[in-house]
Amino acid sequence: MYVELNLGDIVQMRKQHPCGSFEWEIVRLGTDIGMVCRGCQRRVLLPRGTFNKRLKKIVKKADAGSGSSALNREH
Ligand SMILES: [Zn+2]
Repeated sequence: MYVELNLGDIVQMRKQHPCGSFEWEIVRLGTDIGMVCRGCQRRVLLPRGTFNKRLKKIVKKADAGSGSSALNREH
């Protein structure tokens, strides 16, 4: 199933990160998905297929109107 993602979306993964957080912010979209842990700010890249398997749900869609995210970079 295709998951529609946007930069700045907050997602919940099935497995807890060692820091205790389940939530990640999407910072890069492409063949690999880049995301930053909301607990420890660690940045990781996952192939899209792996990401889709680990994804539990999208917690919060990025608010396209606000532009408030400091992580909302183009590159
Ligand atoms: Zn973490």
